[in-house]
Amino acid sequence: MRLTRYAAAAAALGVVLTGCSSEAGDQAQDAAENTVEVQEDVSFEAGTTMAEINEAGVLRVGTKIDQPGFGLANTEGTPEGFDVEMAKIIAAELGLSEDQIEFTETVSANREPFIQNGQVDIVIATYTINDTRKQVVDFAGPYYEAGQDIMVASGNPEGIEGPDDLAGLNVCSVEGSTPAENIRTNYPEATLTLYDVYSKCADDLLNGNVDAVTTDNVILTGLVAGNPDAFELVGNPFTEEPYGIGLTLGDTEFRDFLNDTLEQSFEDGSWEAAWDATAGAITGEPAPEPPAVDRY
Ligand code: GLU
Repeated sequence: MRLTRYAAAAAALGVVLTGCSSEAGDQAQDAAENTVEVQEDVSFEAGTTMAEINEAGVLRVGTKIDQPGFGLANTEGTPEGFDVEMAKIIAAELGLSEDQIEFTETVSANREPFIQNGQVDIVIATYTINDTRKQVVDFAGPYYEAGQDIMVASGNPEGIEGPDDLAGLNVCSVEGSTPAENIRTNYPEATLTLYDVYSKCADDLLNGNVDAVTTDNVILTGLVAGNPDAFELVGNPFTEEPYGIGLTLGDTEFRDFLNDTLEQSFEDGSWEAAWDATAGAITGEPAPEPPAVDRY
């Protein structure tokens, strides 16, 4: 119920962010227009991924669609959230409007294959940069630093304060995610239930099938916001999850372009505006300091 209401609110926000409504006086709209301005006169060296995407007139982006604040499908099925705003910022620098972004749902486990198979140009999907993934895809960023945390039923009936307290309990996460791997490897006394998406874990917690859900704090914050009477966040992050933009391994020119674009968005206010309009609107927190881009 709350989730649906949030989706409706986000949809309304989306209208403001497109900057194409008639209410030109709206301050938020002005801010969005100032910060995510599509570059009209772009030119890229022939043969580069930037030139190819610009010529194709489509940026194909893999993202989540069930994570409030980062990537959540609105009532029309269009994803909205901080990751989606990052995609708009990238598209604008490629000379493409947000209407020229083709979003495909990626779940945690299929992000690398979608990039490797060329099904998407980039993945922006609460996607942690790590050495295992770097063997098969490249990353621009980070553009945000999250941390693994735990969501429990309201009132925290099992008294869970951190991952050690999960021993002997049922905890839910998602296949192919770093939080699931962390529990499997470092907290084997917890019983792990795995789904393809986190919204199914939230359903299991609601129904009492599991005692806890674990993933990144910002994802859990979005789920708590969707059902604040039923859920609460433990609020004790125990890993570092730097979010990157996944792209084809070895495409250095494109990675440099993405990193340049991210750094520019940190400077010109568009990254902060994206935060304020999406994840920040849920957490009520101001945008943090942007992380330092890692040009590894
Ligand atoms: N950031 C973590 C990961 O990339 C967890 C979130 C997710 O599954 O998208 O695996």
